[in-house]
Amino acid sequence: KASEKESQFLVSEFARDFFVDQLTNTTEGKKIGLSYFKERGFTDETISLFQLGYSPDQWQAFTDEALKKAYQLEFLEKTGLTIVKGEKKFDRFKGRVMFPILSMSGRVLGFGGRILKSDPKAAKYLNSPESEIYHKSKVLYGLFHAKKYIAKEDNCYLVEGYTDVIQFFQTGVKNVVSSSGTALTPDQIRLINRLTNNITVLFDGDEAGLRASIRGIDMILEQGMNVKVCTFPEGEDPDSFAKANNEVELKAYLDENATDFIQFKASLLAKSAKNDPIRKAEVTREIVNSIALIPNEIQQEIYIKECSRIMDVSEEVLFSALAQMLAKKQ
Ligand code: ATP
Ligand code: MN
Ligand code: MN
Ligand code: MN
Repeated sequence: KASEKESQFLVSEFARDFFVDQLTNTTEGKKIGLSYFKERGFTDETISLFQLGYSPDQWQAFTDEALKKAYQLEFLEKTGLTIVKGEKKFDRFKGRVMFPILSMSGRVLGFGGRILKSDPKAAKYLNSPESEIYHKSKVLYGLFHAKKYIAKEDNCYLVEGYTDVIQFFQTGVKNVVSSSGTALTPDQIRLINRLTNNITVLFDGDEAGLRASIRGIDMILEQGMNVKVCTFPEGEDPDSFAKANNEVELKAYLDENATDFIQFKASLLAKSAKNDPIRKAEVTREIVNSIALIPNEIQQEIYIKECSRIMDVSEEVLFSALAQMLAKKQ
């Protein structure tokens, strides 16, 4: 008898196969799901590589099929694929295109499902719940496909969503992963850190929450990684930008626009402080705070000098603020 976890993997992999079959071999799947992916510019090769699928717009199409194939309700429920309410059973994902979330070794951990209609009341993306095999905070979408390219390029692009990963990969930038909606966690950074010391965080061009995302990046510095950031033109995200450009253009854009994170943050803060002395003192502490997280003294010194120039504050002041913060951390 398969172990508890193995049973959850098996039912998840059956679900992946079912959703793929629905997408490629049924009238509804082809008309709704496949044409949606085609409109987004995904090729058949890409759709098959990422094992994209479609879950029919019915209450229990998947659950019925799984039970018919003798998968146990217990594991359907534990993986969140089926929602049980008393005597009734419902498919969690209904009328959605499906993105399986794979482990480092390619096993199915869970799913993201996107609605097709633009219903303002329904969540655009629905994800599998936490389970014994799916721990959101320890998984990066795309890592299975990207790992060898991250090592080869010695850099990892971090994007926001599923489609950003897939579109980048198809365009030819394959060292790309996503935290898929959740805030980045230390465990996710450790997964990248095993493959490279360099990370480039790509922001959607619609970010009202750029400031919030920037706070999350301090955690990457703490792990001693070199961090760059890159923004996209207003209204674009990595997916739409990659769709509208070819490999050469995309790579050129990334090379030209990726900026060292500390320099990026210092410029942003300097601009926001304008000539307000109190605000300037605040943002000076904020940037020194980030520098204090870097576990390498030589890098700290170089960044202090850079930030002195960018923020127009003397090196002496920055060095003494840094010394104070480091003393407090002891
Ligand atoms: P699309 O291009 O399909 O509209 P996106 O990836 O550009 O999707 P964003 O709004 O930029 O979508 O969100 C980034 C990521 O955040 C998504 O890929 C998804 O993983 C997650 N996300 C977005 N909206 C939701 C939601 N309503 N519920 C859960 N996760 C979500
Ligand atoms: Mn976004
Ligand atoms: Mn987006
Ligand atoms: Mn998008």
